[in-house]
Amino acid sequence: MTTTGTLYIVSAPSGAGKTSLVKALIDIMAQVRVSVSHTTRMIRPGEVDGVNYHFTQRDSFIKMLEQGDFLEHAEVFGNMYGTSQTWVKDTLAQGYDLILEIDWQGAQQVRKLMPEAQSIFILPPTHKDLRQRLHNRGQDSADVIETRMQQAITEMSHYVEYDYIVINDDFGTALQDLLAIFRSNQLRLDTQQKRHTQLLCDLLR
Ligand code: 5GP
Repeated sequence: MTTTGTLYIVSAPSGAGKTSLVKALIDIMAQVRVSVSHTTRMIRPGEVDGVNYHFTQRDSFIKMLEQGDFLEHAEVFGNMYGTSQTWVKDTLAQGYDLILEIDWQGAQQVRKLMPEAQSIFILPPTHKDLRQRLHNRGQDSADVIETRMQQAITEMSHYVEYDYIVINDDFGTALQDLLAIFRSNQLRLDTQQKRHTQLLCDLLR
């Protein structure tokens, strides 16, 4: 796959603030896009089909899987999730940087296919904070929150597989950390050469 934009993988346990951070980042950085995954899970109140996810019936999802439509896919908490291969390829080819908000299983698959992808893991500052954030989210019982805490610990155990770690203690600081990762990658030699081909040529004339 020949690409112009940079592919970023962002993972985090649920409750770490990943979606809010990514949203704040793309509000600032116009050249960054976020992939909209397909999922078989039920739509939640406030979510919009085609914006948060492409909500898909399980049989349609399996058909897409069999046709090789997904760059990666995984089963998370009993639901299927997958990233459209064509969309990723086209968006990168147009020169956009692209974020995949996916779990550690999807991250492993993408790294194998596209080893140049940059991966970022977002962590909460403490267990206490994570439990509190899960609690604040909704009407889940203490039992459900404990299950989510165990799932979060499993997800977090994969942090060592990532290139960057961002700790979301203070939201503003975590956002600046994320921006720093994107800005520094945009300044890399290979990226700048692609973006400023003519300028670099003119300067050496
Ligand atoms: P939620 O359903 O709460 O939005 O997401 C549950 C989990 O699924 C999160 O860890 C999220 O990162 C992950 N996820 C969302 N979309 C994808 C995807 O396309 N592929 C993979 N592998 N994981 C995804």
